[in-house]
Amino acid sequence: MKIGFIGLGRMGSAMAANLVKAGHDVTVFNRSPEKRRALVELGAREATSIAGACRGEAVITMLADDTAVSRVALAKDGVIGNLPRGAIHISMSTISVELSKSLAQAHADAGQRFVAAPVFGRPDAAAAAKLFIVSAGEAAAVEACKPLFTALGQKTIPIGAEPQAANLVKLSGNFLLATVIEALGEAIALVGKAGIDRGAYVDLLTATIFPAPVYKTYGALIAGNKFQPAAFAAPLGYKDIRLALAAAESLRVPLPLGSLLHDRFLRLLAQGGDSLDWAAIGGLAAQDAGDAQSAIA
Ligand code: NAP
Repeated sequence: MKIGFIGLGRMGSAMAANLVKAGHDVTVFNRSPEKRRALVELGAREATSIAGACRGEAVITMLADDTAVSRVALAKDGVIGNLPRGAIHISMSTISVELSKSLAQAHADAGQRFVAAPVFGRPDAAAAAKLFIVSAGEAAAVEACKPLFTALGQKTIPIGAEPQAANLVKLSGNFLLATVIEALGEAIALVGKAGIDRGAYVDLLTATIFPAPVYKTYGALIAGNKFQPAAFAAPLGYKDIRLALAAAESLRVPLPLGSLLHDRFLRLLAQGGDSLDWAAIGGLAAQDAGDAQSAIA
């Protein structure tokens, strides 16, 4: 397909590369131009403006947050002002339910189509084309995106016609992931301060009653205090908890653990954790316990 790709960060650069490798005609744009170079070397075309990436059948955005997606999609020189009628904006960033709703309306008003397709999986999964994609939007539009999703992920889970439902599912998933990180951090702090080997403890858990990838991935990071370089940066994790809480507030669903996680992220960021992986909230319990092996690297 002839497509545009906007947002070449940790996730987007790997995803755009897989689309090029799969044979799609990809035009890339990124606010900081130097990140476009590697993609151009791989065979992508370079756009020097958002408009330049909006000339195909679809444009994918993979940007940090609501501010970035609003800027890129809704500004006068943005996606909505430039995408042809009938073309599809595929929004793969983790954004708010409210913004997703507004984008769906704005695209409909402009005669364009909108698909929300946030993803589960870190940059290593993105590079290996192993993402899980949660898609929602008008059925024919989602169907048209299939060749792109096949190049990006191992599985696409369609969940209906309302794009914002995909965003809510993604936010709920990240809320759940963060609860696991916090709980693992507390359990590892407990055994670690008693002198039990933290890595061996995680191996024991994941080889017995907690074999899920989430325990393996985050257990290893927390046990080893491996929070740098960030694959998923702590400020983005904090963003997701805030967005999950906002969705919960509007639906009147109390999330007591969400409120706790909000403060854990705030503590991490207040103490200079911006460049750390979001797994670093799992290092706070050992710090609170005054455990000498817990220095967050
Ligand atoms: P990232 O490495 O920080 O990249 C962010 C991208 O957004 C960059 O291309 C950046 O451009 C752009 N951007 C930021 N603010 C902007 C603005 N105001 N205007 C225009 N562009 C702007 O983030 P990431 O880890 O790739 O994450 C991207 C999205 O995927 C986020 O919504 C995140 O929550 C979600 N996600 C991440 C992971 C993960 O493990 N990393 C997993 C699943 C989902 P510059 O290069 O110019 O700064």
